[in-house]
Amino acid sequence: MTLKVYNSLTRQKEEFVPVQEGQVGIYVCGPTVYEDAHLGHGKTYVNFDTIVRYLRYRGYKVRYVQNITDVGHLLDSGEDRIMRGVRRERIEPMEVVEKYTRRYFEDMDALNVLRPDISPRASGHIPEQIELIKALIEKGYAYEVNGSVYFEVARWPEYGKLSGRRVEELMEGSRVEVNPDKRHPADFALWRRAEPEHIMRWPSPWGWGFPGWHLECSIMSTKYLGQPFDIHGGGLENKFPHHDCEIAQSEAAAGVPFCHYWLHNGMLMISGEEMHKSLGNFVTLKEAFEQYSPLAIRFFVLGGHYRSPLDFSETALQAASKGLERLHWAVQAVRERLLAADSGTDSTERAFMAKLAEHKVRFVEAMDDDFNTAAAVGVLFDLTREVNTLLDSGEEISQETLVAIDDLYRQLGGDVLGVIPDEIVKGVAGLEQPLIELLIETREKLREAQKWDLADEVRARLAELGIVLEDRPEGARWRISR
Ligand SMILES: [Zn+2]
Repeated sequence: MTLKVYNSLTRQKEEFVPVQEGQVGIYVCGPTVYEDAHLGHGKTYVNFDTIVRYLRYRGYKVRYVQNITDVGHLLDSGEDRIMRGVRRERIEPMEVVEKYTRRYFEDMDALNVLRPDISPRASGHIPEQIELIKALIEKGYAYEVNGSVYFEVARWPEYGKLSGRRVEELMEGSRVEVNPDKRHPADFALWRRAEPEHIMRWPSPWGWGFPGWHLECSIMSTKYLGQPFDIHGGGLENKFPHHDCEIAQSEAAAGVPFCHYWLHNGMLMISGEEMHKSLGNFVTLKEAFEQYSPLAIRFFVLGGHYRSPLDFSETALQAASKGLERLHWAVQAVRERLLAADSGTDSTERAFMAKLAEHKVRFVEAMDDDFNTAAAVGVLFDLTREVNTLLDSGEEISQETLVAIDDLYRQLGGDVLGVIPDEIVKGVAGLEQPLIELLIETREKLREAQKWDLADEVRARLAELGIVLEDRPEGARWRISR
């Protein structure tokens, strides 16, 4: 079986072949730390976390680099994002950066997004950025005007090859006021002269200033992964100009390809609309966590393909929460049965083991097909149906079988998808199971006391909630109606 990935650069699915056998270098554009991360960040970083987890599951030694942008990323208005945080909170720029970096990782930890191997900061790589600019000027790809340096897109004919945009088109579509310093409106800043009110500034051969946003990713990816490296990921909205600029400046300077595979994830929508502060539908992760469990949000994200847009709505989140609970119940039931299980398998169980292996193969096939988590989640549900049938069969189940089921859940649902924790915490959601058991016990007692009407009412009310009781000689069993 081969792993295939959709490469935005070639616009097709390709077999994944790393630069160095058995190793993968992956870089993903990280957050600009000036305010709390929102649901869109949640989708992006869950998507790439799952890709990294799967590459590791596939046996690759992965180095995952994700930068922290703490300088140079301007808003459309031209305002520096970090400075917006400074004005809002009346603290030092580096306090803003520190505060929102911590809060970002808090959110990611909650979503069970594993920390990148390296989280380099733009502000910690200013000398390297200056060196790259110097090289580009020397090679004739960049020019200095009034203390700022621009990349000259006309000198690099391949500019726009990722997004497929042509320079002429850019000119026509350009709404931005033409900067008289630029030779061409599409030229982009490598270094900007700092105006007197700009606090975050560094000395350079062109005077005091700060790097253009695109530059940091060229530097921090190749510094830690080499050039070319394997995978560059990021949100679709960054394909142009950000990623096209990264390619242009890195390839012009080094004369070799920047990276081999470009992976772009689709945007998160809110009830069919793009999420935007001006639309009043902007939801931070911390706000979302007040309403839904972070793992349910993660599970919701994985229910779609990473390249597709994903529509966030209350109904969709409730469905995801219920789905995840169903998985957790099954896993929990297996783990509880395991505590009292004996060893020794019979032929039925050996047949079941074969089924487990089939499910594992299907899961790997789904993930090998450009990380199709939606299909992989489907396999977990199929598995869970089989597991529930086995658990409900009333037969003894051996230790070996239960361990095999639990292992498979730990690998596929835990290690790869990150939605089945080693210990399923009995929070409010985890209380449901014991509460159902309590109601069943109460119903038994009502029946013993011959209060048939009340006992039937309990059963009927549970059925309304989707919980079906089956009376058996050994006592009532329950299952969720599917
Ligand atoms: Zn970037």
